Amino acid sequence: RIYNFNPGPAMQPLEVLQEAQKEFLNFAGSGMSIIEISHRSKQYEQVHNQAKADIKELMGLGDDYEVLFCQGGASMQFTMLPQNFAVDGKVGNYVLSGSFASKAYDEAKLLGVGHVAASSKDVNFKHIPTQDEIKLSDNAAYLHLCYNNTIYGTEYHYIPETGDVPLIADMSSDMLSRPLDFSKFSLIYAGAQKNLGPAGVVVVVARKSFIENSPESVPTMLRYNTYLKKNSLYNTPPAFCIYMVGKVVAWIKEMGGLEAMAKRNAAKAKLVYDVIDNSDGFYTGHADKDSRSFMNVTFRLPSVELENKFAAEALEHGLGGVKGHRSVGGMRTSIYNAMPMEGCQALVDFMEKFRKENK
Ligand code: PLP
Repeated sequence: RIYNFNPGPAMQPLEVLQEAQKEFLNFAGSGMSIIEISHRSKQYEQVHNQAKADIKELMGLGDDYEVLFCQGGASMQFTMLPQNFAVDGKVGNYVLSGSFASKAYDEAKLLGVGHVAASSKDVNFKHIPTQDEIKLSDNAAYLHLCYNNTIYGTEYHYIPETGDVPLIADMSSDMLSRPLDFSKFSLIYAGAQKNLGPAGVVVVVARKSFIENSPESVPTMLRYNTYLKKNSLYNTPPAFCIYMVGKVVAWIKEMGGLEAMAKRNAAKAKLVYDVIDNSDGFYTGHADKDSRSFMNVTFRLPSVELENKFAAEALEHGLGGVKGHRSVGGMRTSIYNAMPMEGCQALVDFMEKFRKENK
């Protein structure tokens, strides 16, 4: 296996993949694969409820919060949010900090209920807007943040104060990567394919009182209270994905929980950022220093030719998926929870070597 720096689907813990492989043909003595057993069976119910309990435990949340398993990717949340909450004359407020934040806003705009509370678009999303820059509208239904901007490599390092206005965060690319006061958020969601397992399930963690009353006019599968009332089993859930998420969260617990993840992630990110900062301008980071992401490190080289050469040679060194998104260019190395320290060490060794050979 290579060290996989792809932004998502992304590298998963090796132990988790091996365990799933071992159990794949005969799950929990059932004589069936996890993808063959009923979602109404005792065996599956145990997997489903344990994954929920472990997520809440890791986040330090109590009975007033619920974990939901939705489908349609994080992108489906973009339309569920305004449909469920920006109603009765209320307005969805958005901080535009990158592409996905903007896509979330676009869905509210389609419904005529979106307000831009702040934006860093004019500087190609190099930084996270500050508290002072955020201007809420009257009648705000919520403030939506994209907590980690996968494409631009920026991440919030503060939780905005919103008074009584509910806070919602897309944590698709930094879910469970560090401890936060999650109780400040009314709803958090994350597509699983970065820090949580395979694509196909979205983990939503929400305050129960916030999601219990979806408007009657919203289609059943787009109403948060359908998932709340039915324990995310109104229809057939993406059982295999939830099983894998359960294994990943158990792995995080075994690794020492979110404190341990944060320490490890900060050390990994420091390794890479230090090489960028000490490269005499050969590597230039895209994100402003105070907005840098611990999950996606974005940087440029002196020319597009060198960037292409970097990506090709990196792969020869067993380092895959280092090319950046076309809207930023350059390189992006995604170093989610599952990336071991050794992977980051191999990356920085290669970066140093490449700089010496090509400066
Ligand atoms: N939000 C963020 C921060 C993302 O990085 C992505 C995808 O990379 C999405 C949303 C969209 O997720 P999905 O492809 O699951 O709809």
